[in-house]
Amino acid sequence: MAHFERCKACGLVMIAGKYEICPACGVKKSAFEPFHDKVPHNRRIVLDLHIHPILVHFPQTISSILFTMLIGALILSGDFSEKLLHVADIMAYLLPISIPPAFLSGILDGFVRYKRLDTPYMIYKTLVGIILMLISIAIAIITFYGDSREIIFYNIFLTLLSLACQVYLGRVGARLMFGIMPGKLKWKDIFKMKKSSFTNLKK
Ligand SMILES: [Zn+2]
Repeated sequence: MAHFERCKACGLVMIAGKYEICPACGVKKSAFEPFHDKVPHNRRIVLDLHIHPILVHFPQTISSILFTMLIGALILSGDFSEKLLHVADIMAYLLPISIPPAFLSGILDGFVRYKRLDTPYMIYKTLVGIILMLISIAIAIITFYGDSREIIFYNIFLTLLSLACQVYLGRVGARLMFGIMPGKLKWKDIFKMKKSSFTNLKK
């Protein structure tokens, strides 16, 4: 099992004996202190893969490109505008495909990190994630059945909504990344909902 030390100046945790100065803030190793990781090794490995923060970049990128293509197609005209619409069509179909991996990895990350999924932040994130999924399906359906040019305004509106959902998810997610519950996991608790979680929601 690896031994760790922590930089007293900035809080960075690193493998013991590996650094002469803190690789993050640059103070000397005299400022390091021993660090005992209360999180079991197997949970730490899963979280250190950062699967969810990586996978959320796909829907973020796709909806940003979709939005840009739609705006471009609206402003410009002629052949180039048509080309942008073709790209927008492809993005509209890719978006709902890119969300489930991000969603499922978020469930995994949330559970491994906090050992439960029924807390206010987890519930908000799950609900907004579902709304995002529905919006992306709506965009794909509209794109499939509608005329590319006539549906521009609908899809710009829906893409903006999807971006707003993703900004919310990202902001809450960034806060959640700094926390972690110590101890082992009980996998049987994964979908156990407690009444207290709903009273907490009112706060
Ligand atoms: Zn440091």
